Amino acid sequence: MDFPATLLHGSRGTGLWESLLEAAAGLLCEAPGRALVPWQARACGVCAGCHLVRAGTHPDLRVVVPPALGAELGVGAEEAGEGGQGEARSAAGGREIGIEQVRTLIDWAQGTSHRGGPKVAVVHPLDAMAAPAANALLKVLEEPPASLCFLTGTHQLDRVLPTLRSRCRLRAWARPDPQTALAELQRRGQADAQAVLHWSRRAVFDADPARGLEWTRRLVQQLAAGRVTQLDGVTPAQALESLQKLTLDLVRVRSGLAPSYLAELDAPLRRLAGQGDTGAWLQWWQRLAQAARTPDFPVHAGLAVQAWVVELQQLCTSGAN
Ligand SMILES: [Zn+2]
Repeated sequence: MDFPATLLHGSRGTGLWESLLEAAAGLLCEAPGRALVPWQARACGVCAGCHLVRAGTHPDLRVVVPPALGAELGVGAEEAGEGGQGEARSAAGGREIGIEQVRTLIDWAQGTSHRGGPKVAVVHPLDAMAAPAANALLKVLEEPPASLCFLTGTHQLDRVLPTLRSRCRLRAWARPDPQTALAELQRRGQADAQAVLHWSRRAVFDADPARGLEWTRRLVQQLAAGRVTQLDGVTPAQALESLQKLTLDLVRVRSGLAPSYLAELDAPLRRLAGQGDTGAWLQWWQRLAQAARTPDFPVHAGLAVQAWVVELQQLCTSGAN
């Protein structure tokens, strides 16, 4: 068996991670007649291999994620290992895959398959790795042990080291279709599923696809009433994300298009977007994008949010009488 490494790339919260696990499960399924091709093989769900995958004890499966992400997803703890944990934690506060994790993975990859099928390594996200860990991983990718299948993902393809990327077959991951996305929201018991579907742009596998929606609705109401009072309840990062979505919708309705994130607020958005000239809206958009690229906010968090909202308010009322 010879498996090219696959790098799945796509937006956060759109089911990319789930798809990696599904592909791994498909390869480890032991039902007769399965095709040993990632994303073509489907797990039967009932064989011994599928049971082991579901129990998280399959000896030929390794899942490697940054410790912080592992805690969130409930996976990958054993890979950090005894000595590895401290090291892993120190790697960018647990947001990166540490070199010890990669070394443990390599040791495992050198051994023969326990169950006679492929060995599957899931490493995600591939961009969350400092140079030493990436170089160690690269050595395995250059000469992969027989029967090792390497599945990896990223939400930021441009941040994956070119040396790693060149060793992988790229595969684009698309957003779920509206029906699948709506079904997932309903399965989770998400209130207001239709609105959240639009707001998240179908990124419904996100931990909180409705993040920022309520805050933005209140903001639109208050902007429409000409009196913004309630600005708290969000972090600057959440406020920025929400303001970017709101601004894109305001720019869309100015161009005669329907809002895409806040479909249900078409009428108030139209009233707000009528003001200000196009150049001012463009500048505002660029300032938001600039702020979003700055990981640390220079001023007090509450003040940053307040400054942005005041600016948006001025834009929405400029030219109004
Ligand atoms: Zn199976």
